Amino acid sequence: QAKESGENSICFYTSDINDRLVHYQEVTALLRGALAADSLQLYFQPQIDFKDGGVYSCEALLRCFDGRSQPVSPGVFIPVAEKSGLINRIGDWVIENSCRQLKAWQGTALEHIRVDINLSGRQLTNQNLADHILQTLSDHGLSPSQLGVELTENEVIGVDGEQIRQLKRLKQAGVHISIDDFGTGYSSLVYLRNLPVCSLKIDRGFLHHAMENDSDMAILKAIITVGHCLSLTVLVEGVETVEQDRLVKDLGCDMAQGFLYARPMPANEMPGFLADRVQLKER
Ligand code: C2E
Ligand code: MG
Ligand code: MG
Ligand code: MG
Repeated sequence: QAKESGENSICFYTSDINDRLVHYQEVTALLRGALAADSLQLYFQPQIDFKDGGVYSCEALLRCFDGRSQPVSPGVFIPVAEKSGLINRIGDWVIENSCRQLKAWQGTALEHIRVDINLSGRQLTNQNLADHILQTLSDHGLSPSQLGVELTENEVIGVDGEQIRQLKRLKQAGVHISIDDFGTGYSSLVYLRNLPVCSLKIDRGFLHHAMENDSDMAILKAIITVGHCLSLTVLVEGVETVEQDRLVKDLGCDMAQGFLYARPMPANEMPGFLADRVQLKER
């Protein structure tokens, strides 16, 4: 039976505990192998800024390939990485390789783009996280404003004073901070007051449901209003159709991300994507 799982995760679990164990061990072995062989990959998904249609940031999304070069979804391997403790090594790999990519883009059309990485709650419990991120940026000669971090709502709800101080250090240094999958957690909203946040990324479920019924539409509007009242940038995830694009623009969202504009892509496809977009705008 499918176990309760995040919307992004493939339901891999069965009621048979042995299957679950095999799955867990297989994925753990896959991740260890990928770390040892340095065969993890980052894909990048552009984020569209509605103020002029430009792309000034992108999200880094981790990809892991199995023995037959088939991609295994992060919805599957991230929970396993968190459980097994491998998430810290994987998280460090993501920080290091996002910085390497940013450095490789210096001197190209992408030199000013910001890369937003996903952080797991487990990483935030590491007291050196902020120092480590800032040090890695400086080692690569990058400005902190070239990096962003995304934390899901459920992960930030439980943060303690020390973790808030770390996030504040990052934000003061210029790192962009977003709440990811906003609206799917136990949002009391009060926690937003205490957190150093720049953006809300509204979970794609809200957009998809809002197209179908009025009360979900009302909730989507309310979330956008809350974000704007708190002077946050509001981005909607999961825009797949022209109708959804029209809707999020009409509702006054600042930014959007979704398959309509671009799927996550390997780094070497980003320059071509951006060049096509600029041409489209100039025509
Ligand atoms: P997320 O951070 O909310 O990332 C957005 C997910 O939505 C990505 O799935 C992306 O491919 C997908 N997506 C983007 N546009 C659309 C759309 O228009 N329609 C639909 N249906 N989906 C869209 P992906 O890459 O499979 O990642 C799933 C989740 O895995 C991410 O959700 C994030 O929570 C986690 N993840 C990915 N990379 C990392 C990482 O480096 N570290 C950590 N800790 N978690 C990661
Ligand atoms: Mg994210
Ligand atoms: Mg999200
Ligand atoms: Mg998600």
